[in-house]
Amino acid sequence: MSDDKAKCPACGSADVASILYGYPALTDELKRQIDAGEVVLGGCCITPGKEMPSFECRECGAKFTRAEAGKPSPRAYFSEGDLAWLHRLADCGTSDGKPFIDDVEEAGACADVARAVLFRNFGSLAAGVQKHGRLLGCSRAFAKALTMGLEYGAVCGNGPCATELGALYYNGEGVGQDYAAAQKWYERGEELGEIQSIINLGYIYEYGRNGERDQRKAYLQYAKAAALDNAPEAIYKMGDIHSRGRLGGSDKALAYRLYERSLSVAQQRGDLANASQAALRVAGFIGDEENTRYGAPYDPFRALELYQLAERGLRLDIANGLTYYRKRLAEVLKGQESMRGKLTFFLR
Ligand SMILES: [Zn+2]
Repeated sequence: MSDDKAKCPACGSADVASILYGYPALTDELKRQIDAGEVVLGGCCITPGKEMPSFECRECGAKFTRAEAGKPSPRAYFSEGDLAWLHRLADCGTSDGKPFIDDVEEAGACADVARAVLFRNFGSLAAGVQKHGRLLGCSRAFAKALTMGLEYGAVCGNGPCATELGALYYNGEGVGQDYAAAQKWYERGEELGEIQSIINLGYIYEYGRNGERDQRKAYLQYAKAAALDNAPEAIYKMGDIHSRGRLGGSDKALAYRLYERSLSVAQQRGDLANASQAALRVAGFIGDEENTRYGAPYDPFRALELYQLAERGLRLDIANGLTYYRKRLAEVLKGQESMRGKLTFFLR
């Protein structure tokens, strides 16, 4: 039985035979398959506890398992031209001694990425997005190598690569903004069990990036991430949907409890970015006496502290390039002013 999907991870050839173990009954059909080279006999020496190769490449002779068939080597995955380009990038130079890229920092970052791709070091590739993110906007070579590598990583089954690639397409960083591509890579990430991909798909549905806005579908994504990982971002997003009554009636009491829950999990995890998002939401509740009717105890002192926590997180986010949080920072500073006013009144 030749498997249509199996490709040789060593050379990329689809001309692949299945390996049959044991002493099978030699039917006419099996004889035909063996003669045609579709099946090879693997004998009956099976190592217990070890996955035996299921396929043999008819071009290069490599034997590989079903899992390996989905993880092509760079030589099997990339075109010859792209592979040569990656090698030059990894070596930082050309054979005639001239630097391939003049800028030293850029050349170093490109070499890091190219090596991570060639050695299939996908963890460091996904982390490189944060480390050298600044270069995405100004180095075409870096952006190209990184997106090539993330795509390769995602195809090979690395979840963080899929999430990062989806985010690059969503934000139009280093690539043209493309919500359909973002969704495709987030879906791949979800398949691979990536919590952040599950949440980010929620944003795609919530804001209708590819079609109609769908609050119910968005909510299901957030609920899934909350159920699987107790993810603080997913929990406060669920609160937002309840607070705004996007699923029908507004339920502020439930929203408040979800915000408190999100804040406490984010703080336990030392996750400042999400703690600050949850904090400003909790502060909005407990800083207003009216909200005691939703079970939120009036506490302007704690609200001030939470607005200060939110300020620290937002300033960090903005410094990291999330400039769209400037408006929210202004609201947080206004919230601090308002709480100080209330406390002065208290202390008088
Ligand atoms: Zn091969």
